[in-house]
Amino acid sequence: MNAGRDDARPAYIGLGSNLDDPCGQIARAFDLLDTIPRTRLVARSSLYRSAPFGPVEQPDFVNAVAKTLTSLDAPTLLQHLQEIERSQGRKASVRWGPRVLDLDLLVLGDEVIGEPRLAVPHPGIAERNFVLLPLREIAPDLVVPGLGRIVDIAVSESEPRISRIV
Ligand code: ADP
Ligand code: MG
Repeated sequence: MNAGRDDARPAYIGLGSNLDDPCGQIARAFDLLDTIPRTRLVARSSLYRSAPFGPVEQPDFVNAVAKTLTSLDAPTLLQHLQEIERSQGRKASVRWGPRVLDLDLLVLGDEVIGEPRLAVPHPGIAERNFVLLPLREIAPDLVVPGLGRIVDIAVSESEPRISRIV
């Protein structure tokens, strides 16, 4: 069988950076997503600025979401995302700490995986405005497996507001 474009599924990727020119890091990461095998970039959200999340004192984050179409499976796609993180100089870092680049697989078609090393849909979607709002911007019709329609997921009021920058 030809495993070509016919089996492509939408994959939404969350991007975040708060070190070494965050806007430049995100722009480069968008371009690199398009170089992953059997994967092409079809939409990029605006860039958003958000206050850091968690206990560590650190600079503001720049966040965005990409839509790709991919025929890779989830673990293989995650490996490529981690390779891009490393290629942009990400070192092993503390959870919620500062990072040059964070790439999270948010949604992959209708797939549901509940492992610590790979949870899809990503548990942050409903909890983090910096994921929810850019995702809504580029995919207003998205239905997230287990969560429902993206437009029906409430924006968190307890988190600092995020602002759109570009
Ligand atoms: P954060 O939760 O802030 O993104 P990290 O990027 O440091 O923190 O998390 C790293 C770990 O999260 C990775 O080792 C990876 O295996 C795991 N992980 C689980 N689900 C996902 C997912 N959907 N996308 C990306 N990483 C994931
Ligand atoms: Mg991550």
